[in-house]
Amino acid sequence: MSGRLFRRAGGAVVKLDAAALTDLLRFRQSEFQHAEAGGVLLGRRILGSADVVIDEVTPPLDGDRRTRTTFHRTQARHQQVIDARWSESGGTCQYLGEWHTHPEPIPVPSLIDVLDWCRRLDEDRFDGESLFFLIIGIDEVRAWEGFRQPRVIVPLDPLPAEPPGGITPAS
Ligand SMILES: [Zn+2]
Repeated sequence: MSGRLFRRAGGAVVKLDAAALTDLLRFRQSEFQHAEAGGVLLGRRILGSADVVIDEVTPPLDGDRRTRTTFHRTQARHQQVIDARWSESGGTCQYLGEWHTHPEPIPVPSLIDVLDWCRRLDEDRFDGESLFFLIIGIDEVRAWEGFRQPRVIVPLDPLPAEPPGGITPAS
């Protein structure tokens, strides 16, 4: 499976790595009894460009509370993973945002999602000016970018699937 690309304002791209996408699609709520899932996005801001690569996602962890239409992440457990990856990578693997699933074909953020994203932008520690938010629907993966200042959340346009060989070399 290839990854997914989304276009940022200004023409830069957000690449969702194939392995991370595979992990996310495992949690698609394609059956009625599936609970919502979520976690954090980890990856790299590419030096010398505005491109971003999401290399890895955390799965739901012990302590997260999940129902069919809600997901509450236990911050401390996911923060442990963020901190571990950051130090293992010498500071290149960063917290980039978060993801969760929706039991609908094409996901649309709820008011609660938008309020939660705003709270992340206010409270979370991160490099750069923005965080990324993915919602995994049953048929589609959608992405948004939220900026700290001025506070705005914009949808990112999906780009056609990446050609074999890729645009961003894996490192
Ligand atoms: Zn949601």
